[in-house]
Amino acid sequence: MGEEIFRGIPASPGISMSIAYVYSRSKTIVDISELSKKDIENELLDFEKAIQLSLKELKKIHSISTERIGEEKSKIFDVQIEILNDTLFLNQVKERIIKENKTAGFIFDNEISKIENVLMAGDEYMRERISDFTDVKNRVIRNMKREKLVSKVEENSIIVAHELTPADTILFSRRKVQGYITDLGGVTSHAAIISRALRVPAVVGTKNFSKNVLTGDFLIIDGFNGVVILNPSKETIETYGRRLIEVKEYEQKLFKVIDLPSETKDGKKIELSVNIEFDEEIDFVTKYGHCDIGLYRTEHLFLEAGDFPPESYQVKEYTHISEVTYPKCVTIRTYDIGGDKLLPSSQKEDNPYLGWRGIRICLDREEIFKEQLSAILRASTKKNIKILFPMIFSIDEVRRAKEILEEVKVSLAKKGKLFDSHIKVGIMIEVPSAVFLAEELAKEVDFFSIGTNDLIQYILAVDRGNERISDRYQEFHPAVLRAVFKVIQAAHKNKIPVSVCGEMASYKLASIVLIGFGADELSVTPSEFTEIKSIIRSVNFKELKKFALTLLELPTEKEIKKEVNNFFENLIIN
Ligand code: PEP
Ligand code: MG
Repeated sequence: MGEEIFRGIPASPGISMSIAYVYSRSKTIVDISELSKKDIENELLDFEKAIQLSLKELKKIHSISTERIGEEKSKIFDVQIEILNDTLFLNQVKERIIKENKTAGFIFDNEISKIENVLMAGDEYMRERISDFTDVKNRVIRNMKREKLVSKVEENSIIVAHELTPADTILFSRRKVQGYITDLGGVTSHAAIISRALRVPAVVGTKNFSKNVLTGDFLIIDGFNGVVILNPSKETIETYGRRLIEVKEYEQKLFKVIDLPSETKDGKKIELSVNIEFDEEIDFVTKYGHCDIGLYRTEHLFLEAGDFPPESYQVKEYTHISEVTYPKCVTIRTYDIGGDKLLPSSQKEDNPYLGWRGIRICLDREEIFKEQLSAILRASTKKNIKILFPMIFSIDEVRRAKEILEEVKVSLAKKGKLFDSHIKVGIMIEVPSAVFLAEELAKEVDFFSIGTNDLIQYILAVDRGNERISDRYQEFHPAVLRAVFKVIQAAHKNKIPVSVCGEMASYKLASIVLIGFGADELSVTPSEFTEIKSIIRSVNFKELKKFALTLLELPTEKEIKKEVNNFFENLIIN
């Protein structure tokens, strides 16, 4: 078969050559194969795990649902939970697995189908209950597959999928994946951010690549240029082999700046920190970067646990981060669940990005918020933790969040617990209303962190994860630059510092504009740390400031981009 080239959006840099694993999430087809005697024990264990996981998911959905639509309407989940708690029924399934040597999926499907058939013959009320059973059946079968899915993926594969959720991406990362290729998705979709965090090349938005490839096919993924090559020729493999060596050499060159000061040629200090998504990435901070963590996302705790983790677990996690980062600081962002950061089984909303997300969930579910704040405070005794609230859209919201924080402090003090009573509190500026209120918001908090990933999508009304409109997701749109500039001005007028933690800070062309606008800190993906530091060390702040201000006069993205490109081309990177 000849070589075929596919193009998508470059979402995470790097090159890999390996075999494909094609992943499809939506199918709940049962495995009808016969089991050998030695597989039966594992099958029973997997079945039990899938039941427990399904119960956990259903309980979570039930509690969210009760919160949102009331107890009465949430009863449907009670019925589903009851089915999975029916030990008599489950034992029957297990006995049949042992006796018939068939997969748990097959027997479970068969047993539930029997019940569905009985209901089908009943009255209208009975027939309406069929979907409860079908839902439970699909959930358990899917969860059985998820368990096996990870172990079925050969280590070092390139994952190809129509779409990947953050949970899928995390799950696969345990198999040393060499790349992610998806038909859907944009550069700032969370699956893309996670790939960058994992330092694994990714190409998203290929539209239909997954339909053209089979598990086991040989691929080259070029995450720098958004190119995927199926069945590459010998010459192409050699060319990419040479490119890989060049990339390694370039990285080594950049690595030399890692411990040099993060300041411009004319001596302006720019704090360069990193965004951390997973524990594995902390190595970068401790071994190489020796820098602050400008954004510690806590959603992974929720994604991995499938639920909000208990306070004690969080205390351990945050204490660990504080200790390994010390004497540098870590900014812990409270849960930003919602948008595309929900588990696939969670409640669906028509417009999740405009829905129940981030601080909204925390303010509506105070007990969860208080547990997280309490855990952060208890971990703050080294005084190197800052708290960051995401998705703030009003003054009331930030005041309420701060009030809750104070309540938690009082309660901890009463219990004699130690914590940093002067812990710094900041907010993400990522919603357009916060840009307009920046002056007032700056009076409420100790710092701002601009989340350009969301800010761009909300200012331009362009979904950050939709590849069809990815050309309209423009960091150099004049409205975006003016908003960012306005926020920095408002913060400085009120004497608070501004960090930029969205992907714009990791994008070399945009980073120079942010520095020119006066951003005090850039919090970047660890893989871009050395490159952005080299840029900071190569620019003259005074010159850059003058240049950046001229961009605010330009009316189109095209003109701005052209100017930035010209400036960058003339820059000599040390
Ligand atoms: C952002 O929106 O820019 C940001 C950093 O937050 P997240 O990508 O986690 O939504
Ligand atoms: Mg955001």
